[in-house]
Amino acid sequence: MTGRATPRSGALFERAQSVTPGGVNSPVRAFSAVGGTPRFIRSARGAWLTDVDGHEYVDLICSWGPMLLGHAHPEVLEAINEAVARGTSYGTPTEPEVLLAEEIVARTPVEKVRFVSSGTEATMSAIRLARGFTGRDVVIKFAGCYHGHVDALLASAGSGLATLAVPGTPGVPASAAGETIVLPYNDRAAVTAAFAEHGDRIACLITEATPGNMGVVPPEPGFNGFLAQTCRDHGALFISDEVMTGFRATREGGWGLDGAVEGWTPDLMTFGKVMGGGFPAAAFGGRADVMGRLAPEGPVYQAGTLSGNPIATTAGLATLRLATPEVYAALSATADTIIGAVVDALTAAGVPHAVQRAGTMFSVFFRDGAVSDFAGASTQDTAAFAAFFHAMLDAGVYLPPSAFESWFVSAAHDERAVATVLDALPIAAQAAAKA
Ligand code: PMP
Repeated sequence: MTGRATPRSGALFERAQSVTPGGVNSPVRAFSAVGGTPRFIRSARGAWLTDVDGHEYVDLICSWGPMLLGHAHPEVLEAINEAVARGTSYGTPTEPEVLLAEEIVARTPVEKVRFVSSGTEATMSAIRLARGFTGRDVVIKFAGCYHGHVDALLASAGSGLATLAVPGTPGVPASAAGETIVLPYNDRAAVTAAFAEHGDRIACLITEATPGNMGVVPPEPGFNGFLAQTCRDHGALFISDEVMTGFRATREGGWGLDGAVEGWTPDLMTFGKVMGGGFPAAAFGGRADVMGRLAPEGPVYQAGTLSGNPIATTAGLATLRLATPEVYAALSATADTIIGAVVDALTAAGVPHAVQRAGTMFSVFFRDGAVSDFAGASTQDTAAFAAFFHAMLDAGVYLPPSAFESWFVSAAHDERAVATVLDALPIAAQAAAKA
């Protein structure tokens, strides 16, 4: 399956499996969907990863989104090194937290923001706040949207539309999933029906601003605005999860693609990934009156020992300050080039495909025809993707090891990196055709 010898990754994976479940600290890293041995990465610079066997790869994972500027950006490293030299965590308020909060407030419609350490914490806290603010318990989410491993959000649709959900994994109590309704994405009728039946019990609806966790599935025109209005009509809060899209899809995140143009704002938003500059930092924010219900200003409890950590907030601030409109234009042009070449290669090899995009984010579905929801995304030829993935890896391109993930580019993806991707595509497309 692999053309390059990877004995060190292989040995580390063996050892890892004896001390860590599946040998990884987050499941998708394990190559379960594509088979084979994940590469253990020793270092990264710009667009390139170097594994422990000395092989180089063009990185199209970018740490699952955060590395907008590429790895080890000199100015980000300089800011981090200066901050580290002063100490790593104080458990008191610090200046970088204020500066990063101001930057986020300036670039998005949120009025106030609270820092946490992961996207999961951000969505968990936003939902608690929505429940505390509205005095209601029920949460609506969409199938195929991922919001971290929050009990209430690891739920699967019940037996009918608008019925309460069942646990999506062992370990989630029926009571936690039973306060969640899971609906098909892009389905206005399902949303209307759920609010008609449960309206006065619904605390909030949470959605990815543009889903990127079932592959990239853009909202149909006006869909997010419809969700915002429906929530408002029923006294529920609209939570837009921008952990993946925030400061990534566009400079204003996913909201820059619709809300900024159409003139609506979410009540609450969640952020992560890019705003942490490669460190564990995330945030939730929104309307000042809603955020004012949080402790210590209000009664809804939420806290964190490392929340707003000075190194993480310094890295995030440096990243956002360097993420100029020119950076997003360059990312978009890189995405254009790669998308064009993927389409050409898969078309020439006769492999069914659909490429979908939200700003600088895109993904490739190994099936014919546009995908508008999770049921559609699930009809992909995952065997074709696995063959394609391994051929790309052998040619020195590290794609997300699942057909259900967005591909991420960075401002450091220069001509040499893009050329490596383009050179690899025809052979990978032929491998997919034969799978
Ligand atoms: N929301 C979205 C939209 C995400 O993409 C993710 C992570 N991929 C999360 C929440 C959870 O973030 P974390 O992995 O930092 O907990």
